Amino acid sequence: MIKSKLLSIMLLAGALGAFSSVASAKTCSVEISGDDQMRFDKKEIAIAADCTEVELTLKHTGKLPVQAMGHNWVLTKTADFQAVATAGASAGAANHYVPKDDPRVIAATELIGGGETTTIKFSTSKLEKGGDYTFFCSFPGHWSLMNGKFKFG
Ligand code: ZN
Repeated sequence: MIKSKLLSIMLLAGALGAFSSVASAKTCSVEISGDDQMRFDKKEIAIAADCTEVELTLKHTGKLPVQAMGHNWVLTKTADFQAVATAGASAGAANHYVPKDDPRVIAATELIGGGETTTIKFSTSKLEKGGDYTFFCSFPGHWSLMNGKFKFG
């Protein structure tokens, strides 16, 4: 008797939880630029805890072509960042310097050249609130200069 009551309370809580997460779906937009000096214009991106989706726009404000000064925006845990950057260089330009189907990659844009812009959307469901994340450009040689902290929550 007690057991079935508990179960129904749990089911109710689950239903309420599902309802509230749908009701509070929220897309948060953020913009970041990369230039011909191999720099991002932001050292940190903070996403509020109530954002369920991030819409990230990367702008290349430089003039150099993608083969010489390509930029992308890749998000990983800080612990994975250097290993993924290295794997990205091996993945090559055809894969936008991002290792294919790598679960360590939380989000990644395509590689763009001067004057170009690209936008991606990704869910925050894979992110832990207060987790330690790093964003970077995985074009070979860029990650050591082009990186920053990504904060969620
Ligand atoms: Zn770059």
